Amino acid sequence: MDHRPPAIFVGGAPGLDFLNSIATPLDTPVDWLDDGEGYLSWLEQAHLVPGEVLRDMRARALPGELDKLADQARSLREWFRGFVGQHKGRPLTAETLAELAPLNRVLERDETFSRIAVPPAGQWPFRLEVQRRWRNLDALLLPVAEAVAQFVCTEDFSHVKACEGPACTLLFADHTRGHARRWCSMAICGNRAKQAAHRRRFKAHQRMGS
Ligand SMILES: [Zn+2]
Repeated sequence: MDHRPPAIFVGGAPGLDFLNSIATPLDTPVDWLDDGEGYLSWLEQAHLVPGEVLRDMRARALPGELDKLADQARSLREWFRGFVGQHKGRPLTAETLAELAPLNRVLERDETFSRIAVPPAGQWPFRLEVQRRWRNLDALLLPVAEAVAQFVCTEDFSHVKACEGPACTLLFADHTRGHARRWCSMAICGNRAKQAAHRRRFKAHQRMGS
């Protein structure tokens, strides 16, 4: 059984949720990827890998292999954190391509193919689906690398922000209309900020009254 609380998905994009897989939801930091079991559980919660693939990989893994996989996932995560930290707040330019070479090297290992399938519900009888061959454990890095690459290719980095909560490390893509989002979530930091403002007003009020 996984001892960790449910993972946090407030980033507005799977690429940022990946960075948010280490956070301090209450007082204690939690790294959802700190071992192999944690990584599999996070992949399942993020809906990046089908549950039956994860169960199969878990059964096939030799001792220690899953933890090594989690090491690789954390390396990718911290590399991407550096990239986002450097570039958030303004649009990406083509000059950053060279910096993305490590990510392209991971993507090159991917084995995807298309196949004709029947959609779950809809008028058209068929659709073209992209599938992945799950040949080995390393393949479990690829959906994450793809999510990160999608993020780089589709997201306006002008609206990538860090939560303003003083001790919060969560990142998000601000998709609100006025781009005025300040908090990872109201439940985590928004309410804390409101309570702090309320306390400040209350104290000021008391001082004025005395
Ligand atoms: Zn926050």
